[in-house]
Amino acid sequence: MVYSRLVGVKGTEGAGMAGRLELMMGPMRSNKTAELLRRAEMRREYAGQYVLVLKPSDDTKSAPGLIESRNLKSHVKMSATEFNSTNPWEVLDIIAEREQQIGKRIECVAIDEGQFVDELFVFTKYLLDANHDVLVAGLDLDFRAMPFGEMLHLNWLVSTYGGSVTECMAYCRCGARALYSQRLIEGQPAPFSSPIKVPGDSYEPRCEEHYILPGRPH
Ligand SMILES: [Zn+2]
Repeated sequence: MVYSRLVGVKGTEGAGMAGRLELMMGPMRSNKTAELLRRAEMRREYAGQYVLVLKPSDDTKSAPGLIESRNLKSHVKMSATEFNSTNPWEVLDIIAEREQQIGKRIECVAIDEGQFVDELFVFTKYLLDANHDVLVAGLDLDFRAMPFGEMLHLNWLVSTYGGSVTECMAYCRCGARALYSQRLIEGQPAPFSSPIKVPGDSYEPRCEEHYILPGRPH
């Protein structure tokens, strides 16, 4: 797949170069954010790149303007530029302004909590076409084990533009690999019919056997 990419549609021919996409997906507590920030930091430190770290305004797990991993042992945090998750296009003005300030192009745009971003597919494609490398971290599935936002669509962009997909691993308390994000409301499994976004809910990663979704239709 990587080889076909190298000789493929985008990036190696035509008028403009295109960026590549690094996708980091998994359930809750799979260290997606820590992985995103690690890669952003490496690009800054070793490649001398300017990395614009973005956070949709729906992300409520950290203070405004800051991205933090939920993994307290990793102590990873990084300042981030917030944008309205319903209008990612406002980021284009931020990019233009920032490039003016730093006097060079922004090589890389990193987006955390990608599942919350409206028009994520088209927006990411736009950034790649504008020759930015893009890093996106987010949940692949919502608490109902259904595709969350447009995260899974981004696989197409990886296979077309090149880059990588990293399945971030999480573990159930029983020790098995957890594929699902169990939502708990007051300690009880949330029903299928509860809204996608609920303030004050909590999650834990669960395996197939221990994932519980009351009222699921199938
Ligand atoms: Zn389990």
